[in-house]
Amino acid sequence: MPAPLANIPGGQDTIVALATPPGRGAISVVRLSGRDALTIASRVVHPWPLETRRTTLCRITDAGKSRVIDQALVTVFVEPDSFTGENLVEISGHGGLYVPAAIMGALVSCGARSAEPGEFTRRAVLNGKFDIVQAEAIGDIVDARSEAMHRAAVGQLDGGLSRRIEKLRENLISVEALIAYVIDFPEEDDGPIDRESIAAEVEVLLISLDALLATVPVGEMIREGAVVVIAGEPNVGKSSLFNALLGQSRAIVTEIPGTTRDAIESFVETANWPLRLVDTAGLRETSDVVERIGIEVSERYLRWANVVLACGDSETSNAAAMKALEGRTTAPILRVRTKSDLGDPSSAESSGENISVSAETGAGLTELMTQIDRCLTSAVGAAVADMPVLTRSRHIHGIRQAHEEVAAFADAWKEGRLPAPVAAVHLRSAVTALESLIGAVSSEDVLDRVFSSFCVGK
Ligand code: GDP
Repeated sequence: MPAPLANIPGGQDTIVALATPPGRGAISVVRLSGRDALTIASRVVHPWPLETRRTTLCRITDAGKSRVIDQALVTVFVEPDSFTGENLVEISGHGGLYVPAAIMGALVSCGARSAEPGEFTRRAVLNGKFDIVQAEAIGDIVDARSEAMHRAAVGQLDGGLSRRIEKLRENLISVEALIAYVIDFPEEDDGPIDRESIAAEVEVLLISLDALLATVPVGEMIREGAVVVIAGEPNVGKSSLFNALLGQSRAIVTEIPGTTRDAIESFVETANWPLRLVDTAGLRETSDVVERIGIEVSERYLRWANVVLACGDSETSNAAAMKALEGRTTAPILRVRTKSDLGDPSSAESSGENISVSAETGAGLTELMTQIDRCLTSAVGAAVADMPVLTRSRHIHGIRQAHEEVAAFADAWKEGRLPAPVAAVHLRSAVTALESLIGAVSSEDVLDRVFSSFCVGK
């Protein structure tokens, strides 16, 4: 079990932090949590005491009550019924730089200390409010930049992944129990528990672990965003397409060939996937040193790409784009005919292979996004309903480790290579790998790693 708060340095302190981003804003939320939260709050919040879980309009003063700092809505939660499981006071005051700092200053002068990043959520985990996987989901919800990431995080907070890991752990422990029986009564090998039935149980476990690991490419794409590179000769309308897809002007659009010297990246999303849309320098032979650097950047992006848009404003330039991409990318390529509004006869005859778009009129852009979405789904597979997606390297590592151990056990067991007690060591290691994921045996080290990426006040 994780070390209780009492054994952790500073674990008994009452902590305070600004839970909203600092700076100008209508409101700010200051959170105060810990054993002495109510006593400390009573010195700066007036009137006091307050009804719990009811928002009350209060005056916030300094500790000596000599100065009113703000009027704020204050909510009191009494342990264990709070986010952290401790006494918790939330002060929703005005935003800006001064007021939140002054409120926190008043609370610190009464005995609170500034919280470390993620310390509130860490306390919630240590007080058994939720497990580490769910705490990570809270971090992912805060960091979500796309609907897909948000969806995966909400599923994780709901406990989908934790439940699945817990089930796998229980099944592993049942197999361990069967093996203990074999170890205790070896002469009954042909009795009710034979070697084959244990092998079959283990096979089922491996299939479940495989199913989780199969979500890794989906999770990676959800987390990192798919790299979609707009490529083609200079002046075919790549930057204009980039801007049109973004719906805002970020890249410089110009008529001078070779002006997009570097790659420009921006974030958009299709129905199912977040995209890192990249506008690259045109791919062409050049003696200009600066342009050459831009082209090298494009080549690097092409190697990372998940989808490439081979852009051209004529049959010739489309063909040139396809030729320039040869050997530079392994990603699926969509042929995109740009400037469809110009009515170039060759664009009118654009065949099924081309998607015609116009940055000028917006024609074809929705169809292009749908095609990109389809390409990505067929490359990595769709997220399956009810199947939690592994989005964090910690989870992937833990599940892989469990898989390796179970597979090592399965081999040793099938071949009868190792005596049962030795083979069973692999199962124990698999159980430990799963337990460290959900925090059943979380060491301080695991907690430190998980919470170091949190923001202060979370
Ligand atoms: P890039 O060098 O491939 O990035 O091309 P740009 O986006 O800079 O566009 C080159 C020229 O083509 C500019 O004059 C654009 O205004 C023009 N252009 C780009 N897209 C369209 C389009 O959809 N329709 C029309 N009519 N002109 C376009």
